[in-house]
Amino acid sequence: EQDPRIEGIASSIRVVPNFPKPGIMFQDITTLLLDPKAFKNTVDLFVERYTGKDITVVAGIEARGFIFGPPIALAIGAKFIPLRKPRKLPGEVISEEYVLEYGTDCLQMHIGAVQPGDRALVVDDLIATGGTLCAAIKLLERAGAEVVECACVIELPELKGRERLNGKPLYILVESR
Ligand code: AMP
Repeated sequence: EQDPRIEGIASSIRVVPNFPKPGIMFQDITTLLLDPKAFKNTVDLFVERYTGKDITVVAGIEARGFIFGPPIALAIGAKFIPLRKPRKLPGEVISEEYVLEYGTDCLQMHIGAVQPGDRALVVDDLIATGGTLCAAIKLLERAGAEVVECACVIELPELKGRERLNGKPLYILVESR
């Protein structure tokens, strides 16, 4: 009962052990992008899910959310906004810091990119601990948007990132470990 397109997507993702450091199983989506059928099926599955849901904004997380987010936004007729690492956006921004294994990181969003009443979809390639998506949700909600769902290609379920999303639904295509 799983969509037959999922298998081809899963097998197109290269897993690189010990990158970028020992113990990490890096899920490399650049090999998915080399397979036009898998790339198209990935975008299509998201577009099919979000068409007709009144999503007004797709927010993509730097950097790999910038690959999957825009084709989804174009297909469903929503605006696209980039959620970026610090000091990349030239306009006035709001920021959310989040904790990493070592130190902290931060996402920023342009003020005025979303308005109260906007219905947002957050897109990234992968959810691990959920810290990144949690910060993205906070940014959008601070700006008055309603976060309808988060969408990732890959989930690492062992890290239980889903539990950090404060009840926001998460849609994924592939589980990995
Ligand atoms: P997290 O905030 O822990 O959920 O981490 C998610 C972010 O880190 C995403 O933007 C991913 O692209 C990246 N990431 C974390 N772990 C991995 C992994 N094993 N393989 C590829 N990317 C990862």
